[in-house]
Amino acid sequence: MIDTLRITAEEALGLVERGEVSPAELHAAYREAIAERDEELHCYLTLVDAPDGAASIPIALKDIIGTKGVRTTAGSKILDDYVPVYDATVAQRCKDAGLSLLGKTNLDEFAMGSSTENSAYGPSRNPWDTTRVPGGSGGGSAAAVSAGLAPWALGSDTGGSIKQPSALCGNVGLRPTYGTVSRYGVVAFASSLDQIGPVTKTVRDNARLYRIISGRDPCDSTTVDVPPVEIPEAEDLNGVRVGIARELNEAEGIEPGVDAAVRRAIDLAAELGAEIDACELPRSVEYGLPCYYLIAPAEASSNLARYDGVRYALRREADGGDYYDMVARTRDAGFGDEPKRRIMLGTYALSAGYYEAFYGQAQKVRTVISREFAAAFERFDVLLSPTSPTVAFKLGEKTENPLAMYLADVLTIPPNMAGLPGLSIPCGLSEGLPVGLQLIGPQFSENTLFRVGHALERALGFDTVPERLR
Ligand code: GLN
Repeated sequence: MIDTLRITAEEALGLVERGEVSPAELHAAYREAIAERDEELHCYLTLVDAPDGAASIPIALKDIIGTKGVRTTAGSKILDDYVPVYDATVAQRCKDAGLSLLGKTNLDEFAMGSSTENSAYGPSRNPWDTTRVPGGSGGGSAAAVSAGLAPWALGSDTGGSIKQPSALCGNVGLRPTYGTVSRYGVVAFASSLDQIGPVTKTVRDNARLYRIISGRDPCDSTTVDVPPVEIPEAEDLNGVRVGIARELNEAEGIEPGVDAAVRRAIDLAAELGAEIDACELPRSVEYGLPCYYLIAPAEASSNLARYDGVRYALRREADGGDYYDMVARTRDAGFGDEPKRRIMLGTYALSAGYYEAFYGQAQKVRTVISREFAAAFERFDVLLSPTSPTVAFKLGEKTENPLAMYLADVLTIPPNMAGLPGLSIPCGLSEGLPVGLQLIGPQFSENTLFRVGHALERALGFDTVPERLR
């Protein structure tokens, strides 16, 4: 019997390598767990049978990642029957590594959201408490890993969609440095921010999956070669310089239980040998979120213009055969409220007469944010903060208030604006729900984040299996 709730990807790989379990048996074990628990959790939008000759362990992919021959919806009705004719580079790399696709996981429509409640296919639920959200937009991937419905998964993180759901579900999630992982074949949201990354139970699993997916891809000209990925082993933090940015750690809205768990983790880092000191990011946290909500919708309005009913996906014919009417009907029927809101915001920010005041200004502020972080990283190897100001909130709690929903990412967005990598690891519980610790580093510092994350993970001893499933 394979205990899919407990087993790490690394342990599963070991079982397959030693010939103790076949890849097909492993795939079947996860399918059994899915059959048992996914009706309640709704992590998956599409399930896939094990391919003949699968060579390794399975993986789940967020349904924004294009998969050849397998429906890819991006959580939207406009792509309800879209079946890509090619694999995204990350999907191809998983195949090349022998990984078998378990299925495609639920997300907020076009990855716009922080709870999966914007999915056109209904929300996913948090395995720790099914009256609560798993976070978003990649809530399906995070809930699946947490509930033993996949050994590991991929997500996408534009403003926090890997880090925040990982925090809320008690997983390890990496948003890699911008440019380290190909987006070729991934449904585009905001192209200057989108990154693909791993969602796992452990930091070592995360490093292993990042090793598989990262590196230059001729099909995505924003990608570069990355330093060789090291699987972390060290259990101390000797010589590591840790910065605590006041604005990230004392931001309005951080729950006391989240603050307490993060402070304990910082104390632990000191005990493990890290040098801890305070620093400031005065403008990054204040302006990060407003700046993101100009740039991301602007880019989204441009990227989503391709869903016009002409080339692929949904099409609603107009009675009189007028082209513009057909496009309007298609987009009205296909897009949900949140993409429509962002298309309007973004089109406004880009329109003549407003461009300089909104989009242009946001780009300048973005440069200021990058410089603030760069200055901090002259003194520090890593910054520690909460990932999310709150633990998992109730389904429905924020759906009527877009601003409250946007604030879920107030701590994950600033480093993303600067293209920086961020790793979220679970650091404890508050009111019985997981708290995420965010580790932020300079560009291409993934190996440092893995090292620090691994040492802390060992010392913290967090049990990733949701209490109600133990
Ligand atoms: N929650 C943020 C948003 O709605 C971030 C989403 C993401 O990273 N894809 O835009």
